[in-house]
Amino acid sequence: MSRILAAFMDPAGVNHGGLPTTHWGGADREVYATRRQLALDGLQPNRQPIAAQIVWWGVTGRGGYGERVAFLYRRDLAAPKRPATPAQLAALEKANRARRTCSTCTVVQTYVIPRWLGECFACHASDEAWADYQAREARENATDRLTGREAA
Ligand SMILES: [Zn+2]
Repeated sequence: MSRILAAFMDPAGVNHGGLPTTHWGGADREVYATRRQLALDGLQPNRQPIAAQIVWWGVTGRGGYGERVAFLYRRDLAAPKRPATPAQLAALEKANRARRTCSTCTVVQTYVIPRWLGECFACHASDEAWADYQAREARENATDRLTGREAA
């Protein structure tokens, strides 16, 4: 079945509770955007109600096929994302610092201390630890490749 169905073209929302509805590819990208599309432009919906929806026939999360819906917001009502407050940034910095601080020598390292190691490499200096670390990295990279995840 095509993902585009005439039944999904309902600009006035007559059959969709008044919510303007369009099929896949039928929305004007200049006017409407999904939350994710707004985020790509550094915008957020700014508490506006959902303005329209896209309905299409596609793969569902349960591995089958079904009706899929994406909610759209109006670009002209969107607002720039609020930047993090100084308090939020300070909290992030603190958390980051804690992850880089060795519990054995209390030195703040330039790298995040691996949880399985529990201390910095200087404290845990042994060829065995390095070999273990490299083996783990290689395994994780291989997993990332398999799952298509971007390597950090
Ligand atoms: Zn240390």
